[in-house]
Amino acid sequence: MRQNIVAGNWKMNKTLQEGVELASELNSILAGKTPNCKVVIGVPATHITEVVKTVDASKIAVSAQNCADKESGAYTGETSAAMVKSTGAECVILGHSERREYYGETNEILKEKTNLALANGLTPIFCIGEVLEEREANKQNEVVKTQIEEALFHLSAEEFGKIVLAYEPVWAIGTGKVATPEQAQEIHAYIRSVVADKFGAEVADNCSILYGGSCKPSNAKELFANPDVDGGLIGGASLNAEDFVGIIDAF
Ligand code: PGA
Repeated sequence: MRQNIVAGNWKMNKTLQEGVELASELNSILAGKTPNCKVVIGVPATHITEVVKTVDASKIAVSAQNCADKESGAYTGETSAAMVKSTGAECVILGHSERREYYGETNEILKEKTNLALANGLTPIFCIGEVLEEREANKQNEVVKTQIEEALFHLSAEEFGKIVLAYEPVWAIGTGKVATPEQAQEIHAYIRSVVADKFGAEVADNCSILYGGSCKPSNAKELFANPDVDGGLIGGASLNAEDFVGIIDAF
């Protein structure tokens, strides 16, 4: 069954104490509600253990923002998928455009990360999306198709069924420039068709495809109203409880 999901991506923000405080605030607000979507918070790796202890797991799932493309060993500074899993995280954000752009993550590397995430029982929230020049050249479909093909097409339909996709046009991330609901619906439907062609209609129909990029309480409702937009991956607006809950309430 396709799930509606609102996932926060805190990025490299908040000390441990601040993070626990935010998680605790969210937990209290959600304790009095029954959201119409799954709620995930993507926190820094250093915070996962404490945040997991802070929130009610039946209401809020915790996600890492990355994991290594190697299983274990002499990779100073890296965090493996098994380590992430052992902290109590349920998901891991993979292939965020900031990881692709600033840390050289290629589709090939992301393929390895996806394999390790799945092998360790984590749900990958796999990000795809074009940069502004590609959108201006009307190449967005081609770009997202290649990203999916090169990093995810080796999976079996059963494995792919565990992936959540997040379409994040790079020109909309942190810019305040949001995709229109029409733009989001158009490319989400295209992404679903790419998944259907490869993995079949049922897998495609069950796949949650989130929108990310300047999503806020004021625009979430019209984005989420589209049939192929199954929620959001939220950066800036996930950093305070009121905004984040405002987005959750859009469902
Ligand atoms: P934003 O970031 O909501 O701040 O635009 C989204 C993301 O990068 O996941």
